[in-house]
Amino acid sequence: MNRITQCLHGKGTISGMMHQKKNGGNGSRGEYLAYAAEYRPVIFWNLTTRCNLNCIHCYNRSGPANGTNNELTTEEALALIDDLAKMGVPLILFTGGEPLLREDIWTLADHARTKGIMTALSTNGTLITPGVAEQIKAGGIGYAGISLDGATAETHNRFRGSSDAFERSIAAFAHCREAGVRCGVRVTLTKENHAELPALIDLAEEIGASRFCLYWLVPSGRGIDAYTQLQLSGDEVNDTLTHLYRRAEATDPKKMEFLTVDSPQDAIHLLAAMKRDNAADLAEAEELVASLKGGCSAGTRVANIDHQGYVYPCQFAQAEELRIGSVRDRPFSQIWEQTNHPVLSVFRERSPVFTGRCGDCQHIALCGGGCRVRALRLSGDIHADDPFCFVYRDHVISPFNHR
Ligand code: SF4
Ligand code: SF4
Repeated sequence: MNRITQCLHGKGTISGMMHQKKNGGNGSRGEYLAYAAEYRPVIFWNLTTRCNLNCIHCYNRSGPANGTNNELTTEEALALIDDLAKMGVPLILFTGGEPLLREDIWTLADHARTKGIMTALSTNGTLITPGVAEQIKAGGIGYAGISLDGATAETHNRFRGSSDAFERSIAAFAHCREAGVRCGVRVTLTKENHAELPALIDLAEEIGASRFCLYWLVPSGRGIDAYTQLQLSGDEVNDTLTHLYRRAEATDPKKMEFLTVDSPQDAIHLLAAMKRDNAADLAEAEELVASLKGGCSAGTRVANIDHQGYVYPCQFAQAEELRIGSVRDRPFSQIWEQTNHPVLSVFRERSPVFTGRCGDCQHIALCGGGCRVRALRLSGDIHADDPFCFVYRDHVISPFNHR
């Protein structure tokens, strides 16, 4: 995760709030470094692969045709929460599919709260009526990330395979706001929507989003099928990062924070831009980036549990060869504490074993070798370089031509 606002302004709206809520923090710079200690990860939990939409880039092939498909039962899910609480997990993010289709979501949220775990929701927003927004609030769910893949109904609805998802997702922001639930925009940027980025940020501000979180496309699920056609070029990535930097610089961090996800190398662009601008917060931003030990949280600060209880290093790593256990066989806490699992070792130890451009790159200490899922999916070798990287060994990035 590339925390643009935190680096530029020293704080972010949601990450700061979540951290302080959990730890009774004082809001100092050190408070914001990373709110989940290694080995007590934030859990991205796909409660279901059922979904009312059928998005072209869905990373776990969720959709209306899916049934419950051997999902964890309520009893299994409650026992899992007990185990997560015992090991001190700070935050569970309920995701899907569409997590609001899971009938027992309020029971699970309530149980997590009782056990002292914060909860958040990742949703397409289309099922959030005023009543559901009230339930989110009453269930103690602290944040809802709502997907928006275009600034126009035409673009968003095409991505989402729906005729009215845009209107309903926009309405969800209003319902959440009225109920007092913080929410933010989650966008996956591709060839088909990157031209709408400025308008999308305007829209996010207009609808009261506290967070603008940009995901790059990862080849997982239906994202594999669409990858070649939709993935952005290095220049487009560079332009996007430059635009985000400018917008984050000009935006009050109390109103909205900016982040990018799934391309740890984005931090190199950010620090270079701050250096060029003689940013007052540069030293502290470098400290923040260094504290993240490479930026990718998979296998350390983040874990994923799928709808059937299989555990992976992150939600985009849902492939049999990246599976590290099942909570149906043994508790998550035992799966996570393995010290010699070959997949966890790649994510936890990282740089010494990487090859290609990553193996010979001056920036590896900052980015940790990019995204291992992309390396594996696109080359068949988890140790290969991240093919999406816009940073080249021989010409250090040039984010500066786009002011
Ligand atoms: S492995 Fe890739 S997709 Fe997963 S958290 Fe790291 S950068 Fe993101
Ligand atoms: S080539 Fe690899 S190590 Fe270098 S910046 Fe890109 S992802 Fe990071």
